[in-house]
Amino acid sequence: MEQRYFNKEIETMPRDELTALQSEKLKKQVRHVYDSVPYYRALMDEKGVTPGDINGIDDLYKLPFISKSDLRETYPYGMLAVPLSDCVRIQSTSGTTGKRVIAYYTQHDIDIWEECCARAIVAAGGTKDDVVQVCYGYGLFTGGPGINGGSHKVGSLTLPMSSGNTDRQIQFMMDLKATILCCTPSYAAYIGESLKEKGYSPDDNSLKAGIFGAEPWTEEMRRDIEKSLGIKAYDIYGLTETSGPGVAFECSEQKGMHINEDHFLAEIIDPDTGEVLPDGEKGELVFTSLDKEAFPLLRYRTRDICVLDRTPCSCGRTHVRMAKPMGRSDDMLIIRGVNVFPSQIETVLINEGYAPNYRIEVDRVNNSDTLDVYVELSPDQFTDTVGAITAMEKKLSAAITGILGIHPAVHLVAPKSIERSEGKAKRVVDKRKLHD
Ligand code: ADP
Ligand code: ZN
Repeated sequence: MEQRYFNKEIETMPRDELTALQSEKLKKQVRHVYDSVPYYRALMDEKGVTPGDINGIDDLYKLPFISKSDLRETYPYGMLAVPLSDCVRIQSTSGTTGKRVIAYYTQHDIDIWEECCARAIVAAGGTKDDVVQVCYGYGLFTGGPGINGGSHKVGSLTLPMSSGNTDRQIQFMMDLKATILCCTPSYAAYIGESLKEKGYSPDDNSLKAGIFGAEPWTEEMRRDIEKSLGIKAYDIYGLTETSGPGVAFECSEQKGMHINEDHFLAEIIDPDTGEVLPDGEKGELVFTSLDKEAFPLLRYRTRDICVLDRTPCSCGRTHVRMAKPMGRSDDMLIIRGVNVFPSQIETVLINEGYAPNYRIEVDRVNNSDTLDVYVELSPDQFTDTVGAITAMEKKLSAAITGILGIHPAVHLVAPKSIERSEGKAKRVVDKRKLHD
């Protein structure tokens, strides 16, 4: 398959040249941050490191980390590295895990962010002839604005739908013959389900690809969405703290997401010790913005758990690939001493033939953790024979026990009884936190 790139020179740059470029940018960036962000300067002083100690990317480990708590402490202006008058926009996190963080952008920062999104769209097969339907939320959330800008840069016709109003999404998708759909995977699944309910088959739409991200999703969910929409589904990753979506994206090989390494330097660390781990080991992803001006975080701890792969990719891109994040370290549930990621449960559900409409509830009763998994039946699975339901619940419970090593109580519930998501799905309720 012939490969297309948005920025071939950079995306396929030989590794030694890329490393040299990163080192040059890093030296300048550390100086910029040291000179303009007193908060980070104090962290560097405390660690006894000066900009002069950073001579290239091999010296990265010398720098202090930044974490979400630093961003909360410096809210709203403490991490700003340029005069406010040079900024043209703010965006903010979704607040999935607490108080929102605000990020600032100069026009240059917006340009690099949008270029990263354009690379993702081209890698998913997008061209100026495509019709890109953006149903990520617009506004403070980075999803809509980032992909919107990327789509403009590619020259595609952009439909700035924002999330929600699913009937209108479907009407525009059909009437305007959208070819690329961009939203969260949970909303893509919902759109697929709604299309089916309206009597459309996957061949009735003009979509060829989807670019889905902003939340963890499994390979099983990918196959489910691909089937229901009749498309190839691509993953895209990003976070507000580094800019937004487009920090990393999938190519046609779909063996991990290429990180836009000319802008974002990635490391994997042991989340407990902060020690940098060798390639291939699983740990917390840390990013350094190499050339952002307004909000240039150095060694930002994402809390996303994943693995880096530096082996060459047959698409020709030379940039490192990150695996699908399994979820954030703070999404991980510890249930009866066992580490559980919601994505593991999702994998089992879909493999057992259920749609990804589920809710996980964890509680503590008599000092013992309980795990309840509510799973929705599809209309064709639905039966009101109690015996049949109990047998299905038992089978699903055994399959989950086989993967997690702990026994859940599975409850199959009626079609449409679990709330659908138009943005990031909220699938876990940890009631133990209420008692603490
Ligand atoms: P919040 O932290 O409030 O959710 P953001 O909207 O900036 O704020 O979300 C960024 C986070 O979303 C990432 O740190 C990651 O946990 C998650 N995320 C984004 N894209 C993906 C993806 N493709 N796969 C898994 N998780 C993702
Ligand atoms: Zn590739």
